[in-house]
Amino acid sequence: MDSLRFTAIKNIAKDAIHYEVKSSEKVTSIFNENVFTLKTARHYLSDDAYKSLLASTRGGKKIDRTMGSNIANGMKAWAEEKGVTHYTHWFQPLTGLSAEKHDSFFTLKGDGTPIQEFEGAALIQQEPDASSFPSGGLRATFEARGYTAWDPSSPAFIMEIGQGKTLCIPTIFVSYTGESLDTKTPLLKAIVALDKAAVDVCQYFDKNVSKVSATLGWEQEYFVIDAGLAIARPDLTLTGRTVFGHAPAKGQQLEDHYFGAIPERVYAFMRDFERESYKLGIPLRTRHNEVAPAQFECAPIFEEINLAVDHNTLLMDVMTRVAKRHNLLVLLHEKPFAGINGSGKHNNWSMATDTGVNLLAPGKTPKTNLMFLTFFVNTIKAVHDYAELIRGSIASASNDHRLGANEAPPAIISIFIGKYLTDVLNQIETRVGGNFDETDEAMLKLDIHKSIPELMLDNTDRNRTSPFAFTGNKFEFRAVGSSANCAGPMTVLNTVMAETLKKFKLEVDAIIEKGEKKEVAIMQTIQKYIVESKKVLFEGDGYSDEWEKEAARRGLPNIKTTPTALDAYAAPKAKKLFEDHGIYNHLELEARHEIMLEEYIKKVQIEARVMGDLASTQIIPAALKYQNILIDNIRGLKDAGLAGKAFESQTAILSKLSEHINTISINVEQMIDARKKANELSNSRDKAIAYCDDVKEKYFDTIRYHADKLELLIDDSIWPLPKYRELLFLR
Ligand code: ADP
Ligand code: MG
Repeated sequence: MDSLRFTAIKNIAKDAIHYEVKSSEKVTSIFNENVFTLKTARHYLSDDAYKSLLASTRGGKKIDRTMGSNIANGMKAWAEEKGVTHYTHWFQPLTGLSAEKHDSFFTLKGDGTPIQEFEGAALIQQEPDASSFPSGGLRATFEARGYTAWDPSSPAFIMEIGQGKTLCIPTIFVSYTGESLDTKTPLLKAIVALDKAAVDVCQYFDKNVSKVSATLGWEQEYFVIDAGLAIARPDLTLTGRTVFGHAPAKGQQLEDHYFGAIPERVYAFMRDFERESYKLGIPLRTRHNEVAPAQFECAPIFEEINLAVDHNTLLMDVMTRVAKRHNLLVLLHEKPFAGINGSGKHNNWSMATDTGVNLLAPGKTPKTNLMFLTFFVNTIKAVHDYAELIRGSIASASNDHRLGANEAPPAIISIFIGKYLTDVLNQIETRVGGNFDETDEAMLKLDIHKSIPELMLDNTDRNRTSPFAFTGNKFEFRAVGSSANCAGPMTVLNTVMAETLKKFKLEVDAIIEKGEKKEVAIMQTIQKYIVESKKVLFEGDGYSDEWEKEAARRGLPNIKTTPTALDAYAAPKAKKLFEDHGIYNHLELEARHEIMLEEYIKKVQIEARVMGDLASTQIIPAALKYQNILIDNIRGLKDAGLAGKAFESQTAILSKLSEHINTISINVEQMIDARKKANELSNSRDKAIAYCDDVKEKYFDTIRYHADKLELLIDDSIWPLPKYRELLFLR
């Protein structure tokens, strides 16, 4: 019988491109087809109901029960016309994935008459059993109730799975006592906090600004491999990454994949998931090959942050699902393959006013220039002051493989701003005694607006090694992991920005009160902030060893692993920050910290088990089989009367095999003991550190090294696991 590996290899040619994707369709003809947009709502709702929805979407006004019922009826009418039978509250619990529980529109009246119904109450609030979602101890299991509550700022949509269609209502998810159990609730709160702080600062420049929305454009990297091959890799199936596998003869050294022609089978898959995404209103714009073989990227047009986060969560789901139709598997893991690049999710972030101004776009007049500088320097200050928390917000077991692996930014949080803006900040900083004059040519008429776009067009002024880079009219937070829910890092970024802007205003106002002109007060504060935070600015090669040393000299934190990176969430500084802005109370924060530690522990635990299982039940048995072949061969040669020289190589291989087998066995045993010891620790932080240092760091690489050596020694036809060359190059 063929092994799974060889069956899969044989099937690849057969499986390729069997799914037809509609081609000649215009995107505009399907975009938002499955979304209850305001335009659609206008069609299906009464004037009052529509106004109520609009006020809630735009201004966060509460929708009362009657209006809720009207809106629910309109939604149902729309959904039924599209063949929808069920509805669900769609939320993002702390598993990092999305969750849904479907209910039918169908119900029975008191007399048994069947009807289709969707009441306002069902739209606005539901009570799913919360007991099986992570809560970090917030909810004792006897209080299993949790609430999902409608988030009207993200429109309802219809999810199509095969012939099934479900109306999905984006919701927040909170415990019975009101603590958030999801990623959306704190994000919404952080959006409000930033809105308020930014509007206050905008008043210095433009009294007409009444709302500031944070914007996000994510770039999603991912791998695509043949699903048949993946089935023969239990490590991929269970952990999303390969825990074994020798580097292929050809990797990414030829650099022939980046922006290369997209392989046809993947191309069909892309068009297919893009089509599904357009129907859901996800404005995808870009697709291309990434650096590693079998690695790709897609990116949408940026949106208001809450919607952008929902769309990213949805996209990850859609991609995963659509891939199945093509017999492909999408890997969103940050490091599915050792030795070649991992995947990230660049978060392009900015702020936009309701007067249509991008606050991180250099201005055209002295006044708007100053506004740009204000928000630009405040961002630098925010990242500087809260570098640990920002580092914590991207920490996960899977992202640990990527950060600092010389293909992704290091774990040191620094900011790249380009040569021109570095010069500008230097000029401001060196102005003696903060002696600014309202009419100061050099300061207020800096030709920023002309120079920056030009500079940014020139790709040499871009630094791919920076975790946080200014790219002309936005910051690009590059250290976010590909599998992450953007809500985590975006909640932190918005909150630290809100805090920094709030303090900025207090400082500027204090100077104005002393009788100084507004512009001068602003410039003085900007100067102060530059002095206080310039050590976070770094223009050089973030992958270099020199940078690690330099960063240490500057006193910048360099936190390499998740268990300690998460400390930032438990620090008094974080508690104060989040409580001051109403994002998390201390219980919620402690619970989050706990959940993130637990997730880390479980992920490493699963990887350790998979390693042990595969080593003991597949790799060592394959090695033994090959050993026996060699032994038979040697015996045969001896029987034929040949002397030791004739089987010298065989004997050498034999002893190499034994050495690797022994080392693997011993280390697997010891790793199991280390795991048992770690499990005895009751404090989650201690346990996470034990899993990191005593299980992962101590054993994973050693076991892998020897297993990968075996892969190179053993007869290819008895090696059970699809090899890197197959996973990465066959499609
Ligand atoms: P690059 O190639 O420089 O990374 P792109 O133009 O491809 O830039 O943009 C990358 C992402 O940044 C896209 O999703 C884009 O929509 C987004 N983006 C552009 N402007 C903004 C902004 N003001 N706020 C947030 N994201 C933005
Ligand atoms: Mg980019």
